[in-house]
Amino acid sequence: MSDPRLSVVIPVFNEQLVLPMLAARLFPALDALGRTYEVLFVDDGSSDGSAELLRRIQRDRPDVVRVLLLRFNVGQHLAILAAFERARGQQVVTLDADLQNPPEEIARVVAELDAGHDYVGTVRQLRQDVWWRRAASALINGIRDRITPIRITDQGCMLRGYGRNVVDAVNACDESSTFVPALAYGFATRRTEIPVAHEERAAGTTKYSLYRLVRLNFDLMTGFSLVPLQMVSLIGLLVSVASLVLVVVLALRRLFIGPEVQGLFTLFGIITFLMGVMLFALGIVGEYIGRIYQQVRRRPRYMVVESTVDAGSQGAGAPPP
Ligand code: UDP
Ligand code: MG
Repeated sequence: MSDPRLSVVIPVFNEQLVLPMLAARLFPALDALGRTYEVLFVDDGSSDGSAELLRRIQRDRPDVVRVLLLRFNVGQHLAILAAFERARGQQVVTLDADLQNPPEEIARVVAELDAGHDYVGTVRQLRQDVWWRRAASALINGIRDRITPIRITDQGCMLRGYGRNVVDAVNACDESSTFVPALAYGFATRRTEIPVAHEERAAGTTKYSLYRLVRLNFDLMTGFSLVPLQMVSLIGLLVSVASLVLVVVLALRRLFIGPEVQGLFTLFGIITFLMGVMLFALGIVGEYIGRIYQQVRRRPRYMVVESTVDAGSQGAGAPPP
């Protein structure tokens, strides 16, 4: 397994309830592919029994399983990047741990990679999520489609396949917050999308609160588009021109007709409106400055506590501490 053809990357965050079910379905599905493979589990700083379960899964299938435990929770996308840096396959497939995408569908993704595609996107059929998640996704997909050059039908589906060239390019990036499918999309040369089945979470609960979903989509919008920033500058320009005209009109009025008092409240209204616009602009600018701040600090994006992946770092086969 030192040179597997396929790497399957699975981020895990507090998934102790689903991991046994996942293992029961994943390995038969992958064995059936009839090719060499490795499964890279990344434990994203779980506080439940996930890490112990992963160690057990690794002991059961040491021929194909590699486990990476991260010290603290860095989020699904950075966890995937940690695995990408260690994946050895010519083909890399990402999968969620919660069985929302059936592992049996990996075969169809791999078939597209075999056909020469280096990016295989997926579209969830009959998506099994709560209505507000679906509505929010539709809205976000629409906005992203307008303001970024990324054409992904269903950005939320994480069962995806990538060619080695794309993974290498993603690994060369040094971003501290990102959205893996969008980043990979930009590097791919032969893209395709296929429909895949979607099921309800097999067990456990979603790891995305509304707040984390909003954060994730801010990452996507500001990470891949300058349009929000540019739009604010444009609005700022228009508003400044309009208020300049207003000031001139008021000044002339004062000269020729005399000071106006009754219009005072209109002025208040205008000023508060301007203040609102400025605050909004400040918020968006802050998004970008936040990114620059993260980038210049150059903190490690994650820290490995334990790994059966990096040869030598702990001594081969060292027992977990
Ligand atoms: N996940 C992760 N780190 C996080 C959040 C989620 O590694 O901070 C993993 C999680 O264990 C799962 C996948 O990312 O394997 C998708 O999470 P989830 O199914 O909760 O998201 P949803 O399907 O609700 O969008
Ligand atoms: Mg899920």
